[in-house]
Amino acid sequence: MNGLMMDYQLTLPTILRRAETYFGDKEIVTRLPDRSFHRITYAESCRRARALAVALQELGLERGDRVATLCWNHYQHHEAYLGIPCGGFVLHTLNLRLHPNDLAYIATHAGDRAVIVDRSLKPLLDQFVGNTKIEHVFVVEDDYEDLLAGVDPDVWRDPQLDENEAAAMCYTSGTTGLPKGVLYSHRSTMLHTVGVAASNPMSLGISEADSILPVVPMFHANAWGYPYLATFVGAKLVYPGPYLDPQSLLDAFVQEGVTWSAGVPTIWLGILGLLDEDPGTWDLSRMKGMLVGGSAAPRAMIAGFKQRHGINIVHGWGMTETSPVASNSQLVGDLADADDETQFDYISMQGLPLPLVELRHRDEDGNVLPWDGESMGELEIRGPWVAAGYYETPEQADRWTDDGWFRTGDVVSLHPRGYIQIKDRSKDVIKSGGEWISSVELENALMAHPAVAEAAVIAVPDAKWDERPLAAVVLREGRTATPEDLRDFLAPNFAKFWLPDRFEFVSEIPKTSVGKFRKTELREMFAAQAAVSS
Ligand code: AMP
Repeated sequence: MNGLMMDYQLTLPTILRRAETYFGDKEIVTRLPDRSFHRITYAESCRRARALAVALQELGLERGDRVATLCWNHYQHHEAYLGIPCGGFVLHTLNLRLHPNDLAYIATHAGDRAVIVDRSLKPLLDQFVGNTKIEHVFVVEDDYEDLLAGVDPDVWRDPQLDENEAAAMCYTSGTTGLPKGVLYSHRSTMLHTVGVAASNPMSLGISEADSILPVVPMFHANAWGYPYLATFVGAKLVYPGPYLDPQSLLDAFVQEGVTWSAGVPTIWLGILGLLDEDPGTWDLSRMKGMLVGGSAAPRAMIAGFKQRHGINIVHGWGMTETSPVASNSQLVGDLADADDETQFDYISMQGLPLPLVELRHRDEDGNVLPWDGESMGELEIRGPWVAAGYYETPEQADRWTDDGWFRTGDVVSLHPRGYIQIKDRSKDVIKSGGEWISSVELENALMAHPAVAEAAVIAVPDAKWDERPLAAVVLREGRTATPEDLRDFLAPNFAKFWLPDRFEFVSEIPKTSVGKFRKTELREMFAAQAAVSS
């Protein structure tokens, strides 16, 4: 017997209508390129989002067409987050830190037909747009405004989408090989929003009374869901524009009464450093929590914020493939009253899964492992906002198990109460300031240098960026090359932040029995050296 309830579709126009109806006078504040603050209400933002939806329809784009953005965090990008999917199109956030060749590949693979680009990023777009199928380019602060002004937002009608239609997409280059597209549906986005709201990490959950500043870029994994979450609950939003340095962020926190912020550890380490130098300069008494994710939050940082500045760090774990938030810090039962040191131990782990998310870890033979805090295995996940496949990339199907779980590539132990502890990544990619660097791509490029016999690139710990690439290089007999030579050789083909900071010349690269680089050994050698020298 079926239940007798409405078949109400979980689509993003619901969020748009709710914000307009109930939170119309709440603000979205943006730091503009000239450093001034721009203010807009949700009512106006939603009106502009509807205008964007109508304008894209009038351009002749069809339901399901991909519309890209190449933008920093600001109110126009927020409009795109709502307006593109509410017009029945698919928002495709392009990562402005990637090399133009990668962007050309990604925009072409996604089939993007239009792009909204910041004026400051137009030179980047110009380098690759000719190699894509993009037909329409709109520049923020320029003809994008004409696009909106040319239509009547009130002709917008909810396109009555099926909740399983795509709302947004984001490419991840997390593993080796070509970037892969994750395609979020309206349903997954809505449930992610509800799930994050319901998770109420450390009892610091977000509500209408909050003022949220997402430092996490809007081109990275849905900005961890904040644009939708804030609109859903009616919280004030503060977008930092391109100003992500500690001083600008701290000033914005104080000026806009920010109560919640979120970003990668690099950002928070910088902020902690400045707060330690100048305690008392910024009154952060309204800040109830700062979410750290994307890489492991160091325990000393969690303790430093709490003990020296009274600020709570909440730790989150997730992936582009998981929308992205999958777990966050929870202090359940007696842990809520535990002493600081015990709490820091738990907050430095990757938390408990959100409601509706399930986790398990298995060994290489597929055995499900016990939750004993010791047994290490690959973390697997399932839930309504976890990807079921990559967009038009059938060769990656083995990332999903036969019984419907996604293999994360993260090697973890699970503690008896369910807390996740990430031990390592089964893949060898490097994560610098929250962005992936593929070691294999750098190695392949280095090994094309005439003086290089072999090269292995590994991550070494870095106080500022979390990880930085180090290249271990074996030179061909009788040949010479300096670190500068090798860096210059790589430079034309890679984003600047990809270039290894260190080159170490070695006589051989340690290898496994099947001839693969034994990177764990290299990491032990050089990470230990870094620790000694720093
Ligand atoms: P991305 O898809 O770029 O967001 O990267 C996802 C990967 O980042 C995960 O598979 C983890 O390896 C890593 N990651 C994310 N959050 C954390 C965290 N809190 N601690 C450690 N690693 C993390």
